[in-house]
Amino acid sequence: MKTALYPGSFDALTYGHLDMIERACSMFDKVYVAIARNIEKNPLFTVEERIGMIREITKGISNINVVSFDELTVDFAKKIEAKFIIRGLRAVSDFEYELQMALVNRELKPDIETIFLAPAKNYIFLSSRVVKEVLKFRGDISGMVPPLVETQMKKVFEEKKLYAI
Ligand code: ADP
Repeated sequence: MKTALYPGSFDALTYGHLDMIERACSMFDKVYVAIARNIEKNPLFTVEERIGMIREITKGISNINVVSFDELTVDFAKKIEAKFIIRGLRAVSDFEYELQMALVNRELKPDIETIFLAPAKNYIFLSSRVVKEVLKFRGDISGMVPPLVETQMKKVFEEKKLYAI
């Protein structure tokens, strides 16, 4: 049984994340999408809200588990018996940080392998941060995030008065 861990903040889930999830789920018997707690000081969504949305959006995928974790990624991987960590590689800008993380994680737990996946080319420049920037100026984010995420983001932007215009 091959289990993989796909960690991140997923605040909020984009089509880029979803692309990674679908690729990983077709490669592994079981994939844990795991939200790291305490990464961002000012998240848009609570961890529980993010878990709920990702579960709803991926309910058609049978070998996925959406959870959160609060420890070193490799320690959590060990706990769930995942031998693989999935990370997405977008443009060159991701490379240095991701390589550094992969090598640090290997130093900590040599038997866990990091696997880099490339998204479909439409998503190569897509990040949660970009979606927030576009929505801030009321731009169209429908091609960037699933409809449920778009609706929830708009609700939070209203509530927290995050629109710039
Ligand atoms: P971080 O872990 O830096 O908080 P995210 O939670 O946004 O980043 O993303 C988690 C993982 O998903 C990272 O490996 C990131 O590179 C990857 N990822 C995010 N957006 C995309 C995308 N558009 N295409 C491919 N991978 C992506």
